[in-house]
Amino acid sequence: MALIVQKYGGSSLTDVEKIKKIAARVIAAKDSGDEIVVVVSARGDTTDKLIKLAHQINEQPAEREMDMLLSTGEQVSAALLTMAIHAQGKDATSFTGTQVGIATDSSHTRAKILKIDAKRVKNKLEKGHIVIVAGFQGIDYEGNITTLGRGGSDLTAVSLAAVLNAQRCEICTDVEGVYTADPRIVPEARKLNVVSYDEMLEMASLGAYVLYDRSVEMAKRFSVPLHIRHSFSRNPGTLIIKEDKSMEDILVRGITLSKEEAKVSFHGVSDKPGVAAKLFQAIASANISVNMIIQNVSKEGLSDISFTVAKGDLKKAIAMARKVSRQIGGCKVSADDGIANVSIVGIGMGRHSGVAAEMFTALAEEGVNIQMISTSEIKISCIVSEKDGKKAARAIHTKFKLGKRN
Ligand code: ADP
Ligand code: ASP
Ligand code: MG
Repeated sequence: MALIVQKYGGSSLTDVEKIKKIAARVIAAKDSGDEIVVVVSARGDTTDKLIKLAHQINEQPAEREMDMLLSTGEQVSAALLTMAIHAQGKDATSFTGTQVGIATDSSHTRAKILKIDAKRVKNKLEKGHIVIVAGFQGIDYEGNITTLGRGGSDLTAVSLAAVLNAQRCEICTDVEGVYTADPRIVPEARKLNVVSYDEMLEMASLGAYVLYDRSVEMAKRFSVPLHIRHSFSRNPGTLIIKEDKSMEDILVRGITLSKEEAKVSFHGVSDKPGVAAKLFQAIASANISVNMIIQNVSKEGLSDISFTVAKGDLKKAIAMARKVSRQIGGCKVSADDGIANVSIVGIGMGRHSGVAAEMFTALAEEGVNIQMISTSEIKISCIVSEKDGKKAARAIHTKFKLGKRN
């Protein structure tokens, strides 16, 4: 008998019919002889609606209260799915994150899981129950409810799978698996059979929100096999696994597009030691993560430095940049939140030459200007204008022949 953790996303639980179908699917898995733990997300766009509601009441709601509010969405799903399973004649028990003992730190709205004491889950499994857990939430050492960041139910599922030593974690969603690109952006995108942990981690961090990046990190750390599949189909989806040699034959596994970044530029900075250190120390002191940095070749002792940050951090980043500008004698600071990051990811690219040239050619042929470039062993990212983002992703997808028709 194996233990399987299944996670159902919000789009799989939007109405009564869907909840009943998921209940039947969970029961079928249990009847096939496995122990089943199910993690659920809030139904449909409940989380977005709750966030909107909070901001209508208070422009800057306290993060502790946001967690109190947002965690309710998952609780509703857990109770309703459990009732649906009862209605179909099986034993099931629902738990909140607190009841399952998901202990987190106190960073509200983006808490880290510190420990899971899954005693109550194990007890119920031993009694033959299906266990349903509300995703996305935990409790800090003072007893406050916390949430794990947007998409956090994936992290609940993988963490429970790790703690319970599950045979695999199934992420059941509204697509058949992980595609070569977001099928909503690139319609000819193709479903992938396997993706390595490292590739998936890059793709998820760069905009493939089919999986929460922190859940992939956790899966890699504890070697949890992940299976991404459709909630309402029996087709095999995508397996996220440890890389093997054969995976290096593929140059580009997937393409991502993210509009979550913004650019800050420092113009006419004196080209001397210590300036970049001062600027980025200030940015770091405000707890802002920087994604990409470029510095132009200096002209007459002056150069430009640009960097990107998450859109949500832009205001803070501009304020810090202006402060540093005053300290170093007043250079111009500008910002642009109309950018997009288009990236290619693949563990094979390090072993092949010419991949970057191909990517840049695809962009040039579409007349897309590249503003910034950054590379790692398994990815190349380009910052382009937001309006060019989709066109850029589609052109690169075609250039690397990733679509169905190729
Ligand atoms: P859930 O509610 O099940 O957690 P999400 O909306 O978070 O579902 O994730 C599924 C969505 O992820 C898909 O509908 C798809 O538009 C998007 N997505 C982005 N990149 C990819 C990709 N590379 N492959 C598949 N889906 C992707
Ligand atoms: N409901 C949360 C969100 O929308 C968590 C999740 O869906 O995984 O981000
Ligand atoms: Mg999700």
